Amino acid sequence: MELQADVAVVGAGAAGLSLALRLARPPAGAARLDTVLLTAPPGPAAAPPRTWCFWEAGEGPYDEALTASWQRLRVRGADGTAVSAAIAPLRYKMLRSDAFEALAGHAIASGGRVRRVEAAVDRVEQTADGALVHARGANGRRVVVRARWVFDSRPLPRLPPARTTLLQHFRGWFVRTARPAFDPSAVELMDFRTPQPAHGLSFGYVLPVGPAEALVEYTEFSRRVLSREAYDRALRDYTGRVLGLGGPGDYEVTECEQGVIPMTDAVFARRTAPAVFRIGACAGATRPSTGYTFSAVQRQTDAVAAALHAGRRPLPPLPHPARARLMDAVLLHALDSGRVDGPAFFTRLFARVPAPRLLRFLDGRTSLPEDLAIGAHVPVAAMLASALALPLIPRRDPPAA
Ligand SMILES: Cc1cc2nc3c(=O)[nH]c(=O)nc-3n(C[C@H](O)[C@H](O)[C@H](O)COP(=O)(O)OP(=O)(O)OC[C@H]3O[C@@H](n4cnc5c(N)ncnc54)[C@H](O)[C@@H]3O)c2cc1C
Repeated sequence: MELQADVAVVGAGAAGLSLALRLARPPAGAARLDTVLLTAPPGPAAAPPRTWCFWEAGEGPYDEALTASWQRLRVRGADGTAVSAAIAPLRYKMLRSDAFEALAGHAIASGGRVRRVEAAVDRVEQTADGALVHARGANGRRVVVRARWVFDSRPLPRLPPARTTLLQHFRGWFVRTARPAFDPSAVELMDFRTPQPAHGLSFGYVLPVGPAEALVEYTEFSRRVLSREAYDRALRDYTGRVLGLGGPGDYEVTECEQGVIPMTDAVFARRTAPAVFRIGACAGATRPSTGYTFSAVQRQTDAVAAALHAGRRPLPPLPHPARARLMDAVLLHALDSGRVDGPAFFTRLFARVPAPRLLRFLDGRTSLPEDLAIGAHVPVAAMLASALALPLIPRRDPPAA
């Protein structure tokens, strides 16, 4: 099968769906763009369901699909001291990927501009006037899409060379308790009462959907992922010893979620050929110091859709400002080298910097004076030593995951 389109979007995860959604609903007067969205068939290329959290002020375009949202965040130090902060006018929002797929799928189907084709993409080839996407459907039939522009969101087979590559790796349980056990008014963003690993840091993360229902995660920032048994052991310890939920008989685990988000100061290519661009995590949308990606994906796909609708060259913008990437590179190296104590660093930052400002900082939306004010609350000597060491470290290929 050969299809013609103005735009081909490869991959239907956060980035692919966000772009397709915007192209399905063009603003009044914008050029009509025929779009093909290539979604992976069931199998190894299909991404497992996941939960995306992000923050934004007031109402947002995906509110009808949210599982929950909160206006209060809490961070707990290793000794249990809690710092709780209101984040108004922001809201911290929880969106499950299947709900987002349903919302986007509905908009795409009703817009009439985007065709969904279920096929696994093998390669993308630049041509004289655009690009060819070569794919294979579930039944093995060949699919070729000829498009003016291609946006590829497939995960990279290998991360680019970097000075520091840490992994944010985690496993979560959707837990239902027999009795009320959670405070549904606040998210436990980082709870450092978990045993700390020899390298990196660990914390618990709790998204309370109701008094007796929550997504409880055990997360590490370190170099290597754990076995599933090790995550489950850590979760049993966290839910039992730390949260006091009791043993397995006292709660039910209704679902699990596991993932790895690279935290790296690598430079990600946003264009691989004149008509072929990358979007999403593979284009560097993940904020290196936190792993949050979803908001940057929204900004990136907004800009790409606006350029396409205006007939401009749609190079995705840099997902994070240069200053933010530099500060993150320093922090990643400081954490990786053990120069800073991760739990103390994050607890102190959260206690000293107003949470809405910290969240704006993580979105790259703070001014230089605001960044300097935030910098006053970090361990200056350790960060300076890390900043001075950084230029001497070569960029290396990260070890295979
Ligand atoms: C479990 C988990 C939880 C996360 N939680 C958060 C969070 O709370 N907040 C946040 O900001 N970020 C979070 N992230 C990080 C980031 O937001 C996600 O990884 C996000 O899904 C990245 O979007 P993406 O479109 O770049 O990649 P993906 O969503 O992974 O999309 C890539 C798509 O490409 C498809 N694909 C792959 N190969 C092929 C192929 N050959 N042909 C066709 N299609 C193909 C896949 O099926 C997938 O749909 C999380 C990541 C994980 C893994």
